Amino acid sequence: MSKHLVLAGGGHAHMVTLSNLRRFTEKGHRVTVIQPSEHHYYSGMGPGMLGQTYTPGAIRFATRHVVEKMGGTFVLGRIVKIDAAAGSVQLESGDAIPYDVMSCNVGSQVPQNMINGALDDIYLVKPIERLLDAQRRIFELASRKKPSVGIVGGGPSAVEIAGNAWKLTRKPGLHPAAIRILTKTTIMPHHPEGVRTKALASLKRRGIEIVKNCDVQDIRTGRVTEVSGRSQEFDIVFVAVGVVPSPVFRESGIPTGPDGGLLVNRYLQSTAYSNIFGGGDCIHFQESPLDRVGVYAVRQNAVICQNLMAALEGKALQAFDPGGDYLLIFNLGDGTGIFYKRPILFGGRLAFIIKDYIDRRFMRRFQALES
Ligand SMILES: Cc1cc2nc3c(=O)[nH]c(=O)nc-3n(C[C@H](O)[C@H](O)[C@H](O)COP(=O)(O)OP(=O)(O)OC[C@H]3O[C@@H](n4cnc5c(N)ncnc54)[C@H](O)[C@@H]3O)c2cc1C
Repeated sequence: MSKHLVLAGGGHAHMVTLSNLRRFTEKGHRVTVIQPSEHHYYSGMGPGMLGQTYTPGAIRFATRHVVEKMGGTFVLGRIVKIDAAAGSVQLESGDAIPYDVMSCNVGSQVPQNMINGALDDIYLVKPIERLLDAQRRIFELASRKKPSVGIVGGGPSAVEIAGNAWKLTRKPGLHPAAIRILTKTTIMPHHPEGVRTKALASLKRRGIEIVKNCDVQDIRTGRVTEVSGRSQEFDIVFVAVGVVPSPVFRESGIPTGPDGGLLVNRYLQSTAYSNIFGGGDCIHFQESPLDRVGVYAVRQNAVICQNLMAALEGKALQAFDPGGDYLLIFNLGDGTGIFYKRPILFGGRLAFIIKDYIDRRFMRRFQALES
């Protein structure tokens, strides 16, 4: 019997399902993909896009185009609620879309509790496409003065944003930016000492200032204020304080993990609703909570695709195995990177060349569906 599959978000964990959409439609199922943007941006290359190593076209996947080409329906919109009992999703527009089976890959967002007022000259590191606005604004400022750029946060995205913002204003005719990272403890606090040392050395060598033990409580246009009352002024502020899963699940009363991620079992299936699946940053994997890195979203692809088909066809589900240690490579913005996969750690040009190769290959694989 023909059923309706709804995909909420066309993120990293839905790429294989999107590539195989025709298999679903050929079996007579309808597929609807809902996403607030016609493109999905690959976050791993986002800082590189800020620094103009990549064009926006090189790091995005044409979700609407591919979905429609494969015989699915694309709905430009944002899911705000799931009515699991009724089997429908509600969009920001007020529309409701019924489903038989659905899968959530709606990602994560930067918490905004420190921010007061509008996001003028304040750039969250997600959604990735907003980094393009930041790039334009930095260019505009740097063409007439030395822009001051504050980065609140200290993890990998803060480091990558700092390094790539640095690169952006090294172009002839621009005033080099004064860049300062404001971090609660130190940079890369959750990474091994060797990674931290290499990142610190790279940033310091380029004059990027790191202010440690900085407990920021208020961010507003032009100013960042710490709990101690100390304030610092900036032309532009990036907010890179980590991410939390989409609030959709809590607001829908669907069981979540402690941070609000959709609670899923080993089949990447909601622990309460057997027709709801999910992957990527928006889930909490019950067996062993996963780091919010794209690597897991990518590893989940095949299982999600397989299990969505199984759920529609009444077949057996496949369990997800998160696998072992994963490779991390950080783009420092000056043509170098830091490569880390336990126990291997090195920095330099080779690290960035490997990252660039892996990332471009990932994009090419899925962008090939567009032609
Ligand atoms: C600057 C930066 C750099 C990073 N670099 C790396 C890296 O190099 N390697 C790595 O492994 N990880 C990296 N990460 C982490 C990585 O971004 C995430 O783990 C990854 O994006 C998770 O993929 P996802 O598909 O779950 O979410 P996302 O990439 O956020 O995708 C979610 C999708 O859902 C859509 N969506 C959002 N809300 C809704 C809604 N309500 N309804 C419908 N659709 C919605 C969005 O438009 C988007 O297309 C980085 C993160 C950042 C911020």
